[in-house]
Amino acid sequence: DCSAHDGHDHLLNLLLIGDSGVGKSSLVSRFTRGKFRPDPKPTSTNNIAARHVCVDGKVFKAQIVDIPGNSSYSDISTEVLSTNGALIVYDVTSLSTFENAEKWYKELQIANGEIEVMLIGNKSDLVNDFVTTCTDAGKELAERESLVFIETSAKDNKNVEKAFVEVVTLIFDKLI
Ligand code: GDP
Ligand code: MG
Repeated sequence: DCSAHDGHDHLLNLLLIGDSGVGKSSLVSRFTRGKFRPDPKPTSTNNIAARHVCVDGKVFKAQIVDIPGNSSYSDISTEVLSTNGALIVYDVTSLSTFENAEKWYKELQIANGEIEVMLIGNKSDLVNDFVTTCTDAGKELAERESLVFIETSAKDNKNVEKAFVEVVTLIFDKLI
């Protein structure tokens, strides 16, 4: 059991980026504390949380930086330089958050081409026949840029663990 582990084999820095309100803090809360709060406070300073993850028999300590909603690219340039992986998050019910995800991606590529980047379409629980979603747009961007794309729900705890384990795996694959 990984969570019972004291030490770790590798320390990884992860960064969550994306528009305000897409669910970044909720994903971190779900992943590190197993909780979802329907009315979280907006993030006002960088929030740092950590959790152990086991991949291939190795123990990783994933240190996660969750940025405030109004961050601009220059606000996070220091974090970008020291991060191993970035999860770019958008809200599957909001096209503008997807368009901004694409912008964030381009800026990340320019800043640090070594980062493992993953695209997350959050709030999949809100998808139904009556809601237009940007799932296809996410898939297309991911295919074009060879990114891993996962749809998550922090609310229903769907694919949250999977998304974080996947990005740790991508980073680990590159380390060895
Ligand atoms: P952040 O600004 O990106 O950190 O977003 P927050 O985590 O603060 O979430 C913004 C709002 O979206 C809050 O009201 C959350 O409860 C809600 N939210 C976050 N994740 C989900 C999800 O997976 N499904 C639904 N339905 N709501 C979510
Ligand atoms: Mg937040």
